[in-house]
Amino acid sequence: MPLLRLEGLRKTFRGRVALDGLSLRVEEGEVFGLLGPNGAGKSTAFQLLAGLLKADTGRVYLEGRQVGLDDAALRSRMGVVFQRGSLDEHLTARENLMLGARLYAVPHAQAKVRVEEMLGWMGFSDRADERVAGWSGGMRRRLELARALVHGPRILLLDEPTQGLDEASFRSFWKHLGQLRAAGGLTVLLTSHRADEAALCTRLAVLDKGKLVACDTPDALVSRVGGDIVTVEASAPEEVAAGLSEVLGVSAEVVEGRVVVEAGSGHALIPRLVEAFPAGRLASVSLRRPTLADVFLKLTGHALGADQPAEPPATRRRR
Ligand code: ADP
Ligand code: MG
Repeated sequence: MPLLRLEGLRKTFRGRVALDGLSLRVEEGEVFGLLGPNGAGKSTAFQLLAGLLKADTGRVYLEGRQVGLDDAALRSRMGVVFQRGSLDEHLTARENLMLGARLYAVPHAQAKVRVEEMLGWMGFSDRADERVAGWSGGMRRRLELARALVHGPRILLLDEPTQGLDEASFRSFWKHLGQLRAAGGLTVLLTSHRADEAALCTRLAVLDKGKLVACDTPDALVSRVGGDIVTVEASAPEEVAAGLSEVLGVSAEVVEGRVVVEAGSGHALIPRLVEAFPAGRLASVSLRRPTLADVFLKLTGHALGADQPAEPPATRRRR
């Protein structure tokens, strides 16, 4: 029996569909990711689950039992980290955690123990009395993670938890998440628009324009893209893409100014590709294994990173 099951969650804003009947199952112990570009409906799904929005239709089951999204049993088992930072700038780290504990009605004595535990675990014991106003983005994010866990939830909801963090803070955040999981008993549901972050999840629901387009493990999703990805940079990418299909019979797409080809064998394609164009037409040719960003492109026909709607051609970056 899945820990959490969503059936047909749908949400519209003034007639516009933000989430178009999302159904999925999250098993105990998973790090389950919702992957999609801006506007895909990730935060809408997240806010429904966090009880901040009311679904138009749909059902949610916790351990097989249908629950309302404002059900106390569901709420007390969930910890939430929002997309936008929600720490109180004027409070110290310790005070922020104590406030979190109070919001979840953790008895005071228990809260004090738990807060010290979380501060120690995050490496903040000696900075607990500093106001968070002066803290870096990475430290705040980790403190928010600690606050979401202060009442001992079984399900942790994270909406784009690492957005805006530098690489070191990104790794530190995931290291702490990994330790949490190793300690056992925690299921994580997170949203991301980053392919590299999605690859760290146990399973992914790929969302686009409010619809679920695929749900599988990262490996299984990547294996849907056969072979290699060959990327070509050129001053006239559209012409190169057209030339590739004409001369070599391969289908190429222009993504963010680069020509992208999915090839059974990149090594076999590249020499023919280079031969097919006069010297100087191609600026660079590269070969790599597919990523979840390529999977997204294949599933939806557009890039994961691109904001919706796409940039107008006049301002598109050209080399
Ligand atoms: P994501 O988190 O994947 O970027 P969102 O769930 O925030 O996507 O948004 C999905 C769609 O719903 C977008 O078209 C967005 O403009 C719209 N939307 C989200 N929240 C609101 C709101 N409170 N009012 C009106 N439209 C909204
Ligand atoms: Mg969002």
